[in-house]
Amino acid sequence: MTPLFQHLDIITRSRNRSEVEVAAVKALHELIGASRTELHKVFLPPGDILAGLSVAVSGTDANTISHDDGFSWPEQTGSIENYPLLACCLAAKGPCLSSLPNGQQRCITLIRNQMHEPYGLLQIERDGAIDQTALDLIEGFSAILSNSLGMLEYSETDTLTRLLNRKTFDEYLINILANIPNPEDDTQALLHLPHRRHSHPEARNHWLGVMDIDKFKSINDRFGHLIGDEVLILVANLMRESFRAQDKLFRFGGEEFVALLRPAEFDHAIGTFERFRKRVEAFEFPQIGHVTVSIGFTQIKLGDTPSIILDAADEALYWAKEHGRNQCHAYEVLIEEGKLQRHATHVSDIELF
Ligand code: GH3
Ligand code: MG
Ligand code: MG
Repeated sequence: MTPLFQHLDIITRSRNRSEVEVAAVKALHELIGASRTELHKVFLPPGDILAGLSVAVSGTDANTISHDDGFSWPEQTGSIENYPLLACCLAAKGPCLSSLPNGQQRCITLIRNQMHEPYGLLQIERDGAIDQTALDLIEGFSAILSNSLGMLEYSETDTLTRLLNRKTFDEYLINILANIPNPEDDTQALLHLPHRRHSHPEARNHWLGVMDIDKFKSINDRFGHLIGDEVLILVANLMRESFRAQDKLFRFGGEEFVALLRPAEFDHAIGTFERFRKRVEAFEFPQIGHVTVSIGFTQIKLGDTPSIILDAADEALYWAKEHGRNQCHAYEVLIEEGKLQRHATHVSDIELF
């Protein structure tokens, strides 16, 4: 295979976001003979536009560093105003070319996703001019990167609401569980030194919430499935408006949704879920009027399994359903108040040999 086809083979074989990004950036770097090639991901949350270095490839040996695990934002993500050149190219129609003091030339170009929204900025630096042949390669690989990311997005999202789907949920939750820091497992523990107290231990916890539309069957029965589907789309839109850009939102099936909140304290978590519940309650759904949701949520703790976490959030949700609907409850609070009983072990977690 020629180098071009070798690279295309690697890109099209990649099965997750960070693999696709690395493969495409590396391909461009090698084929163009760049000295340094970077992909900066762009995030457009409400407010500031943010940018974070996702992949950097440098030198003739294509030394590659990936800062993107495909789940969270790259660590150094910050306002794009810190990178005036990137900010400038984000607004430009085509690639931005400039000369560097060391005689190299730089090209920055915008990568869009399939919805035509900005996804990232590709920055290539090389000795000598970035000529038309190089620009053609940049354009070609930008399109391949965008298409490959689009394919991944298609397989990760629910077609009706464009929220993440159930399959993707499993991957995200397992990734969160695998990355919860273990206080027993650090150097201090190994050296038998006393633990440094964390000022807000709860701030480390991720949260999982299950949200279910109340009496949705009667909406379908009274107004038909098409209107029912529109309610699902509008509720998904209200979710996107209510949660932060880094919280992961899923349609779990039917009229049930799940949110994975990035680490937050309890007050923040309940505030976020309540904000969504109240938004739905206040929203005027065309033809239908008012719709409500019930919510159960729980902490994601070290040593938990996906089934323990989902069962806990579900129990809190059913408690909300049984006690009037249009409510939001935390499993841990219901346990503390004696309204739910804690299960020692879930049957599904017992390994049978
Ligand atoms: P509860 O308040 O207890 O949650 O009551 P409910 O009626 O919302 O719950 P139930 O589970 O009895 O009904 C859920 C309904 O959701 C049944 C099914 O017809 C409908 N549904 C599931 N998926 C879809 C979909 O994709 N589109 C539409 N329109 N309806 C759906
Ligand atoms: Mg329901
Ligand atoms: Mg349901």
